[in-house]
Amino acid sequence: MNIILLGPPGAGKGTQAKKLVETRNMVQLSTGDMLREAKTSGTDMGNKVAAIMDAGELVTDEIVIGLIEEKLDTASNGSGFGGFIFDGFPRTLAQADALGDLMNTKGLAIDHVIELKLNDDVLVERIVNRAKEAVAAGGTARADDNEESLKVRLMEYYKKTSPLIGYYYAKGGLKDVDGLASMDEVASSLTAVLDA
Ligand code: AMP
Repeated sequence: MNIILLGPPGAGKGTQAKKLVETRNMVQLSTGDMLREAKTSGTDMGNKVAAIMDAGELVTDEIVIGLIEEKLDTASNGSGFGGFIFDGFPRTLAQADALGDLMNTKGLAIDHVIELKLNDDVLVERIVNRAKEAVAAGGTARADDNEESLKVRLMEYYKKTSPLIGYYYAKGGLKDVDGLASMDEVASSLTAVLDA
């Protein structure tokens, strides 16, 4: 079963994806994680996208589509493989079309597109807290977890990503889950969708 988790920054997509990896043996494909990895290891691509990411803007469709294409080919699909979770991808209509084409080519399908719904005040609070918690734990906050970048990330979401809700609704298969509920409640709502 392959699913897309849709939702604004701070909605909990990454957290929920990690739970599904543990409980259902799925493989999380997070373009944000892949890009942060490239940034940290200082590859040419990583250096190219660093400033864009820190500012909260979207990197080019070409880059993220390339990353996903590569992972679809190499990510584990061994025994017991539970499917792919697309987390933070697609984020534009062009990415959504490209993903549809890639999946078709590989004889795969997207079974569910699940929107995590919440309001903006909660998002800002969550992201600011996520940054504070990271620092309190002795680490460093994500470079884009600050109010200035967050404003840009939210605007990018509403301008470029939120149209995907209509796109997948029209295609059929869009579900939504209350992202305001506790982490465990969101996880059980997701499980309910997947087991339905
Ligand atoms: P995330 O961890 O999903 O919040 O992504 C962090 C940052 O990586 C975003 O703010 C973008 O700069 C970049 N990014 C991640 N996924 C995508 C994508 N699908 N398309 C464009 N940019 C992306």
